Amino acid sequence: MADRPRFGPAGFPSAFKELKLPVGEFPRYLRDEGLDAFEYQAVRWGAKPQMKREVAEKLGANAKDHDVWLTVHGSYFINFCGNVETIEASKNRLIACATAADWMGAHLVVFHPGFYGKRRQEEALELCVKAMGDVVKSMRSLGIAKVRLGPETTGKPSQLGSLDEILTLCERVNSTEPVIDWAHIHAREGGRMKTANGFRAVTEEIEKRLGSDALRNLHCHFTRVEFTEKGEKRHHILDEVEYGPDFHHLATLIAELDLKPVIISESPILDVDAQKMRDMVLRELEGKRRL
Ligand SMILES: [Zn+2]
Repeated sequence: MADRPRFGPAGFPSAFKELKLPVGEFPRYLRDEGLDAFEYQAVRWGAKPQMKREVAEKLGANAKDHDVWLTVHGSYFINFCGNVETIEASKNRLIACATAADWMGAHLVVFHPGFYGKRRQEEALELCVKAMGDVVKSMRSLGIAKVRLGPETTGKPSQLGSLDEILTLCERVNSTEPVIDWAHIHAREGGRMKTANGFRAVTEEIEKRLGSDALRNLHCHFTRVEFTEKGEKRHHILDEVEYGPDFHHLATLIAELDLKPVIISESPILDVDAQKMRDMVLRELEGKRRL
């Protein structure tokens, strides 16, 4: 559980990449920016970890030294609602990501559960429950004890991953926690996150279904997003106010409800907007103290 609201980027910012430093140097870089969370992107991985164990361990050790909260974004090539071969291959890809997460000492592997294809919603959901349960069992037998699975709210109506479905997966499968991508909920549901009440309704639903601890310790993704009737189209920076959702609504709720979320910035300017979100939350907390 995070001890305070934490902020960081989804992947390495371009300015860090230009330095051509080893991956393990990133936690120090982040702390110099005043950030304290990082989501490593394993989004193109197949059946085997695509990083060396010693690199993962070094990243993990340095993250610990510099007090950076690590998570991994798992492969995009996961579909627990596909045919039998696809489901089996998807399990192996998620296990590969969980293996590297374990090397790093990361808390969570985030992933998108799948696509409905021609399946009915209930059937697709049952397949996800079964496959995720199998992955948790395999992780246990491989000795991966601490890493949790984080099914994420998805950005397109063709993908399984409504808020209700994600909460159901977390109710039914052990070692899981919900990943709330606010932009995805906004895009998938035609602009649902327009108002403070939209945010409040989501937090109430999470608390009702999974309890206060789950709400207090949420793992979140945030960016402004452009969408069509097919869902998510493009991410936008926080200053592009013509696109929703507005982080201010979440910052207010974090202060009001005393939440300690991990907020991963998926803005095109990853770490810059992570700092901006951090400052907005700090301002809200400061305002609350002065009351
Ligand atoms: Zn994602």
